[in-house]
Amino acid sequence: MTDQSYIQNLRVPTTEQPLRILMSACLLGTTCGFDGSANGEYPSALKLLTYETAKLVRFCPEEFSFGTPREMCDIHGGTGLDVLEGRARVLTESGIDWTQGMIRASEKMLELAQREQIELAVLMDISAACGSQVIYDGNRFGENKVYQIGAGVCAAQLMRNGFKVISQRDFASLELLYAKLDKNHLVNEEALDHHEIGWYKEYFG
Ligand code: SF4
Repeated sequence: MTDQSYIQNLRVPTTEQPLRILMSACLLGTTCGFDGSANGEYPSALKLLTYETAKLVRFCPEEFSFGTPREMCDIHGGTGLDVLEGRARVLTESGIDWTQGMIRASEKMLELAQREQIELAVLMDISAACGSQVIYDGNRFGENKVYQIGAGVCAAQLMRNGFKVISQRDFASLELLYAKLDKNHLVNEEALDHHEIGWYKEYFG
């Protein structure tokens, strides 16, 4: 669940001192997805490229550890936090264990966040690395794919080290962020965060 008050309380950035935002590289158009695509286009994330008051730091943890293109992977037996604490594993679709590589990627992402003094992260939801609100529970392949509430390995690493993470689907939080980056932005009061939408409520009860 996102922390909207955190975004409201962020400092007001300027072009000289832009807000430092870490982003999943694919959300900014970098072709680092498993198949060499940018994982689709999300206007909510691409909009951040238009602000001079934002310094966007992009990183793809899976590309760092596994290259592109690569297999898809998911978390088995828990969430990203469970992977970091040794209770769950990351497996590719063909069954290769990527747990250690994913942990190394999360450490690299954390190192970057600390070095750049990141103030917020906007990451791709559902990903076993970058997901922040919802991830798959086991394999995403076939008809029996199951979702769970939780963060991917790299998002969890950031969170447990004190960084705030939202996803490209947290539209209410993003509205607050746009308003922080541009005082003339009119906030869409009807926008919802991922955990507030009908699908989420129906699926998770
Ligand atoms: S690991 Fe993250 S940045 Fe890289 S393609 Fe997947 S969601 Fe995008």
